[in-house]
Amino acid sequence: MSKLVGLVGWRGMVGSVLMDRMQAEGDFELIEPLFFSTSNAGGKAPAMAKNETTLKDATDIDALKRCDIILTAQGGDYTSEVFPKLRAAGWKGHWIDAASTLRMNDDAVIVLDPVNLPVIQNALARGGRNWIGGNCTVSCMLMGVGALYKAGLVEWMSTQTYQAASGGGAQHMRELLTQYGTLNAEVKALLDDPKSAILEIDRKVIARQRNLSGAETANFGVPLGGSLIPWIDKDLGLGKGRDEPGWGVSREEWKGMAETNKILGQGEGFNAPAVPVDGFCVRVGAMRCHSQALTFKLRKDVPVADIEALIAADNAWVKVVPNTREATVRDLTPVAVTGTMTIPVGRIRKMAMGPEYLGAFTIGDQLLWGAAEPLRRMLRILLSH
Ligand code: NAP
Repeated sequence: MSKLVGLVGWRGMVGSVLMDRMQAEGDFELIEPLFFSTSNAGGKAPAMAKNETTLKDATDIDALKRCDIILTAQGGDYTSEVFPKLRAAGWKGHWIDAASTLRMNDDAVIVLDPVNLPVIQNALARGGRNWIGGNCTVSCMLMGVGALYKAGLVEWMSTQTYQAASGGGAQHMRELLTQYGTLNAEVKALLDDPKSAILEIDRKVIARQRNLSGAETANFGVPLGGSLIPWIDKDLGLGKGRDEPGWGVSREEWKGMAETNKILGQGEGFNAPAVPVDGFCVRVGAMRCHSQALTFKLRKDVPVADIEALIAADNAWVKVVPNTREATVRDLTPVAVTGTMTIPVGRIRKMAMGPEYLGAFTIGDQLLWGAAEPLRRMLRILLSH
């Protein structure tokens, strides 16, 4: 009999991409889906439903307890509220989750099987039941340059990210587009007139950006359209001395080191030391895809051609983009990558600091490899276990 799989958060940003991918890969043919909702219990389940055609209340522990596997992309607040109650009620099923809430728990594995299948298999053998998707930026980065870590080449890595609005969810994406529309409307007449003064356009746009209302910036807090925000997620650094490493770090930046090492099975709780990872995470006005500039200090001088070959051979989705202007602007942009499973890695070159310093630039659709894909692949691993 097919396993009963509870699906929570299926209509959100990550959830909708997940549903698309599950349909494309035929996952629904292997399961009996049970759809949940936090806002529309009793409503009609989507077309993929089989025998269970009404939406169940996502906070109904008895309904959740029926499931062999629960796959949620509902968000951290939901996980914090429901997961402890469900386990306390004696539920022994597998919990697959996109939210960060449980990621660093000792009994949780961050799943990214093309990179850490052995870590997943070890945990399964030990009776693991909590499978958490990684931070989107970290997962996309490891899909691109995981080979360098696997080969033990990385002494440290610094990341500078350019993260899309959709990283915040459906409402954030709408807010960005609405802001672009508002700014365009403000200067439409001037734009239509080729003789209008550009500084006049500029003045009107900045005045409108600075006067966006609370409602117009409800999700990001400040304007993002035509601007950027160099802080993502919470402020974690306040407990440390100003001169200590880690002071003033954002939670998104902290995840870079913590999650990269946990995914690779090294650092705290493992037998291998952690590799330092640090940098700045920046929200930009892209719709989808997280991009990042990487600087590596390698443990030794390795020729660029060997690095490229190593990266290209790592998995079926990574693609090395030649470090030319033409290939870069064509293949290494959020617009080129959005909606694809490809993880391009380009701008690979030795840096001025010395032959062990390597630069690269990588992009991933954070809703695919950064969120939905590792979760549905974990579901498949569990179904064939
Ligand atoms: P989201 O788009 O805000 O969706 C979450 C829930 O919001 C939905 O399941 C839905 O619940 C409700 N909702 C309210 N208004 C909605 C609307 N207009 N359209 C669709 N859904 C709406 O959040 P998300 O970005 O998918 O993130 C879900 C989780 O995945 C979070 O924990 C997040 O941190 C994590 N994550 C996100 C990304 C990313 O790139 N966005 C990447 C990796 C991980 P009901 O149907 O129950 O009402």
